[in-house]
Amino acid sequence: MDRRRFLKSLIACPACTSAALAQEAGPHWKYEGEHGATKWGEMDSKFKACAIGGEQSPVDLTGAIHADLQRVAIHWKPETFDIANNGHTIQVTAQDGGSITSLKITYALKQFHFHTPSEHALGGKSTAMEAHFVHSSSEGRLAVVGVLMVAGKRHEGFAEIMRAAPKSEGEAKLKTALDPHSFLPQNRSFYRYEGSLTTPPCSETVEWSVFDSTIEVAEADVQAFRALYPMNARPLQATNRRFLLKGL
Ligand SMILES: [Zn+2]
Repeated sequence: MDRRRFLKSLIACPACTSAALAQEAGPHWKYEGEHGATKWGEMDSKFKACAIGGEQSPVDLTGAIHADLQRVAIHWKPETFDIANNGHTIQVTAQDGGSITSLKITYALKQFHFHTPSEHALGGKSTAMEAHFVHSSSEGRLAVVGVLMVAGKRHEGFAEIMRAAPKSEGEAKLKTALDPHSFLPQNRSFYRYEGSLTTPPCSETVEWSVFDSTIEVAEADVQAFRALYPMNARPLQATNRRFLLKGL
């Protein structure tokens, strides 16, 4: 839940306030320094998985096993998304963003957001940025689709998001509808593995699909993002005994 919506929910439920505020007052995590990514697991008992989990994300996408994987079927919907600067990233929140289907489970698109540099790496190398499309099923399972981004040709949708993004914590709305499909690379080869949220509480409930091919966005828009968030990527995590699969 983003902070603004969270605060609205307090107004709707005054009796919940003290418990909810206690939750909201939880540790303020960051990417670097005293509350940085290597400290998350010690900051709160709810964040334990960040330190001791065995299936954490992101990972280096290397040494994948080629497999006959069913592609994720993507049916997103264009809309005039809400754009939030939430203190950790720029998040694009969907009202009715459509869905994806993976292994016969349908997941609704909840939001997408960005990291710089990319969180996943290809053969040890990160790219300029990464977009995460976060979906959840009716049973609360999560599926995240990752798209690696490099500086190059201007991407109209990303330019529009950066133009609308509040410079400090707050919310805005796109003026015109954006089609999230514009963020998909042409070549849809992808990696799949079981992992976690890359932010606290680092819950290990995520089916990851990350495309092998990158998309291009304007260098000026990467810089516009970095002016707000110079570094918001969690370091690479150990693969341990997980299977990293690659499908065509
Ligand atoms: Zn993310």
